[in-house]
Amino acid sequence: MTGLASIAGAGLMGRLMALKLLLRGWEVRLFDPDSRAGRSSAAYTGAGMLAPCCELEGSEPLISQLGRESVSEWRGIVEQLKAPVALQAAGTLVVAHGRDARELERLRHRTGDCGEVVGEDRLRELEPELTTFRRGLYFAGEGHIDNRQLLAALERTLLSFPRLQWIRGKLEEDAGDLVVDCRGLGARPDDSELRGVRGEVIYVRAPDVRLNRPVRLMHPRYPLYVVPRAEHVFVIGATQIESDYLGGITVRSSLELLSALMSLHPGFAEAEVMETCVNCRPAYPDNLPRIRVSPGRVRINGLYRHGFLLGPRLAEIACRVIDGERIEALESRIVGDLP
Ligand SMILES: Cc1cc2nc3c(=O)[nH]c(=O)nc-3n(C[C@H](O)[C@H](O)[C@H](O)COP(=O)(O)OP(=O)(O)OC[C@H]3O[C@@H](n4cnc5c(N)ncnc54)[C@H](O)[C@@H]3O)c2cc1C
Repeated sequence: MTGLASIAGAGLMGRLMALKLLLRGWEVRLFDPDSRAGRSSAAYTGAGMLAPCCELEGSEPLISQLGRESVSEWRGIVEQLKAPVALQAAGTLVVAHGRDARELERLRHRTGDCGEVVGEDRLRELEPELTTFRRGLYFAGEGHIDNRQLLAALERTLLSFPRLQWIRGKLEEDAGDLVVDCRGLGARPDDSELRGVRGEVIYVRAPDVRLNRPVRLMHPRYPLYVVPRAEHVFVIGATQIESDYLGGITVRSSLELLSALMSLHPGFAEAEVMETCVNCRPAYPDNLPRIRVSPGRVRINGLYRHGFLLGPRLAEIACRVIDGERIEALESRIVGDLP
């Protein structure tokens, strides 16, 4: 099936859907009131971790099952883009200070045989600079993608299609053959189940620190992750607060994140704080995504903290739904009719 598709929302899901539909021969109009940089999208703030195993800590196994192929799916997408995007699959290392060893043990139980328990020698091999830790959990195969490079590369790639119109504004009438609603939290006026889950991240530049992969520090109250970007820049995150307040990062969150950061690696003490960034994750009550369908309309939302992990898979499922294909049992839990 092809025709004219109107997509509302040019955040992560809207851009991915636009690319998929263009590649399938559709003419696409992409609507978003924000500028093409996408700064108001959750995707601009999201750390871009692709961590199907670590996510078992607080998510349903379905998320992990759906997200397992995400690194290779992203590789396929990144290869088609017209600008480079850093995508790494060097695994995730999880550590805890001695007093929080139980947190590490709890994660090991939650993740089953997904992770490798690593002792001091292996830990040094993976991350030579994390000298204060003796034990950890290593999740090979997990990865991360640079979210902002991705948004920019998708923008450039989409604009290279003559069949794409990028319209700054909201989708009004005259929608064409298909409407794809990817408004994230912007869909709340029509979707009372959606809620925002506030997340705060801090960007630092730390010339004295070298990490080869995302590192998570377990803590009973404020767990931390550190995601390396190019040129000694690190994304530090993220808080998870049941609130849709979009105001700047609080003193409490900054202190918690930054003191946990310094306890991870002393080199972070002299790091330059470059930017703080806040947005809210669009979530449904069970924190699972939804693809809702009615004739001529598809709504994809509730990606919560898994937009990067699940985005390519959800876009693929949505395209199959649009083409009227059968949905597999695993996926049927998140696909349904529009109320
Ligand atoms: C702090 C933080 C950390 C995160 N870390 C990760 C991570 O490590 N890994 C991971 O997988 N996920 C992560 N996420 C989650 C991920 O960012 C989201 O799941 C994902 O961005 C949701 O994609 P979306 O397209 O549904 O929404 P968004 O990316 O928010 O895009 C929605 C778009 O819709 C537009 N819009 C709103 N209203 C309208 C309207 N009326 N008409 C047209 N357009 C409209 C908005 O301007 C926006 O551009 C994180 C999120 C946050 C906040």
